[in-house]
Amino acid sequence: MSDVSITFDRITKAFGSFRAVDEVSFALPRGALVTLLGPSGCGKTTTLRLVAGLELPTSGRIEIEGRDVTALAAAERKIAMVFQSYALFPHMNVLENVSYGLLVNGARKASAEAEALAMLKTLGLEGLGQRLPSELSGGQQQRVAVARALVLRPKVLLFDEPLSNLDARLRRRVREDIRDLQKKLDLSVVYVTHDQQEALAVSDLVCVMRAGKIAQMGTPNALYEDPADAFIADFMGEANVIQGEVLGPNRIALGGTALDTLMRAHPAGPAQIAVRPESIMLQPEGAPGLAGRIQRAAFLGQTREYEVQTPAGELFVVTPAAAPAFATGDAVSCAMQRVIPLRPGS
Ligand code: ATP
Repeated sequence: MSDVSITFDRITKAFGSFRAVDEVSFALPRGALVTLLGPSGCGKTTTLRLVAGLELPTSGRIEIEGRDVTALAAAERKIAMVFQSYALFPHMNVLENVSYGLLVNGARKASAEAEALAMLKTLGLEGLGQRLPSELSGGQQQRVAVARALVLRPKVLLFDEPLSNLDARLRRRVREDIRDLQKKLDLSVVYVTHDQQEALAVSDLVCVMRAGKIAQMGTPNALYEDPADAFIADFMGEANVIQGEVLGPNRIALGGTALDTLMRAHPAGPAQIAVRPESIMLQPEGAPGLAGRIQRAAFLGQTREYEVQTPAGELFVVTPAAAPAFATGDAVSCAMQRVIPLRPGS
């Protein structure tokens, strides 16, 4: 069996002269959860709809588990999609909602109900079969929507912003549930979100899109630690992006001060440098590092946040609460534990 779930081969989707998806190619591994992440309008939902067969590409070829599905209708693709709104039938109870697709596909009532009940159990929804969707919490409705999709044994499960109707606390739990289920059932999942934390938390692979193209695809760790350019660095968490100079391996100059640090290989010379707020260690003035002065200090319980004025520009710094504390006006030294020299991009 192919170890690739979905292949896009130079897929373009144009609406009039506008290319919502522009010559995109990728091969997504089977059994992986891949998120499509990016700013509003970058083409995430259109990409998902192209996988589902709800849109047909203007050009290019789509394969699902090795089969060319480019011209196939949605119903023929063995794909299930969970929408933001869940789209449950309000007048049907949970069991009817979950067995509906099986009945439409020609299953007999008894076997459809048995399969639906088993799926409700897998999702921890046993006992709720007779309730109407309106009698469920948001998190439960979400799980019913997933059960309804999974009972059809799709090759790929698609999620379009599945957590956006839930409050912050529930979001975290439901995203963990989705991740656990995906691993337990070895599902191939494509997941659209514009929330980078959600993407980092649930994904095997993150695909960052910008203006209809893939800006970078990689593991959450790789995108965070090794972003290709300033757009990705800033989109995946916070980053100070400053002008500096690479002097050699693990050695840079910032604001006229030469510093030892950890960094990926980069040719010597001027470069944009991204520094994560938590990669900067503050020490009292005089210690090795970039000299600075605290402009603003805030205590947030687990961490402290600082704005530090330095010759390289203003830096946003986050330190663990247990690290030494500084006050506004203090002179400090900023040691750079790790920096990211950026390739020229946006
Ligand atoms: P969001 O996070 O806001 O949902 P998105 O990344 O999912 O954004 P898409 O919905 O894929 O973005 O839309 C990409 C671009 O294509 C947008 O500029 C959108 O206006 C345009 N677009 C999408 N569908 C159509 C359509 N049916 N007709 C014309 N333009 C469309």
